Amino acid sequence: MGQTYTGRFAPSPTGLLHAGSLVAALASWLDARAHQGQWRLRIEDVDTPRCVPGADRAIVQQLMALGLIPDGPVWWQSQRSPAYAAALQTLVDAGWAYPCACSRKDIESAQQVARHRSAVYPGTCRQGLRGQPARAWRLNVQAVQAALGDSPVTHWVDARLGPQQQNVAEEVGDFVLRRADGLWAYQLAVVVDDAAQGITHVVRGQDLSDNTARQIVLQKALGLPTPQYRHTPLVRGANGEKLSKQNGALALDCHSPAAAMAALNAAAQVLGLPAVPAQTPCAQALMHWTALYPAQSDPR
Ligand SMILES: [Zn+2]
Repeated sequence: MGQTYTGRFAPSPTGLLHAGSLVAALASWLDARAHQGQWRLRIEDVDTPRCVPGADRAIVQQLMALGLIPDGPVWWQSQRSPAYAAALQTLVDAGWAYPCACSRKDIESAQQVARHRSAVYPGTCRQGLRGQPARAWRLNVQAVQAALGDSPVTHWVDARLGPQQQNVAEEVGDFVLRRADGLWAYQLAVVVDDAAQGITHVVRGQDLSDNTARQIVLQKALGLPTPQYRHTPLVRGANGEKLSKQNGALALDCHSPAAAMAALNAAAQVLGLPAVPAQTPCAQALMHWTALYPAQSDPR
C-alpha cells in the first residue's frame, strides 16, 4: 500500500449539507486532491434515532452537484455492526472494556457540570456493577495506557491548530463504546471505520477536535494506526454560535450550477481561498483551489 493518502468526509444524515458542513467537505476534498489522494465518503448513521430518512441519498446528490465526487463505494455505518462488535469483543477480551450500570443522572449528580459539557465519568463501575444491570460498555482508559506504557496525556499535532494534548482519563473519563440504548458509540465506529477504510488523513470541523484524543487512545487499544488530523474553521451563525442543523442552518441549494458555485465560493472563503467568478464551473473552481490549498491565510 505504501504511504498513499486516503481522506474522507463523514457526515451524519441528520439533515442535508449546510454552509458549515460544506466547509469540512470542501477542505477534506481539497486536501486529498492536493496530495493526489483518494477521497472516501462515509455516512455516519449509527445514531439511528437522529437520522432523517432520505438525508443520506440527498447528501450524496448535493456532493455530486458540487463536483465533490467520492472515490470508491460509499460506506454506511449502519451496515458495519459486526465490525464494531468484533472490536468491542477484542477490548473485552483484553480486559480493557467493562459494563456500566450508571444512568446519565447518576454521573451528573456526582459532580458539577458546566453548560455544553458532558460530565466526566467517575469510573463508578470499573470494579463491578454492584448487582445492577449493565447498560453501556466503557473503555478503561487507565488500564489501556498502563498496559501500553503510554503517558496519561495524549499528544498530537493538528495540521492547522498545531500541538494539542488531552488527559482523557481526567478530562473525559472512561468513555462509552456501546451506548445504553444498544447503539454503537461514535468514537468506536469512527476509529474502526477509519482503519478499515485505510484513512491516513482526517480533515473535519473544529467542533470534532475534542474527540481526537479519545480516538487516539482507542486506536492504540485496538492496535490501529493513527491518521493525521486537521480541523477546519467553523462557520458561525448570526448569534455567534456554530452553524449547525440544531440551530437552524439552512440546507444548501445545489439545484443549479450557479447556486452550487455560490455555495462553494462561500465555503472557500472560510478556508482563506479566493472567490472565483460566479459563472465558473464547479469542477474548474475545485481544480483552481486544489493548486492553492492550504491557503497561507487559512485562519486559526
Ligand atoms: Zn457506571
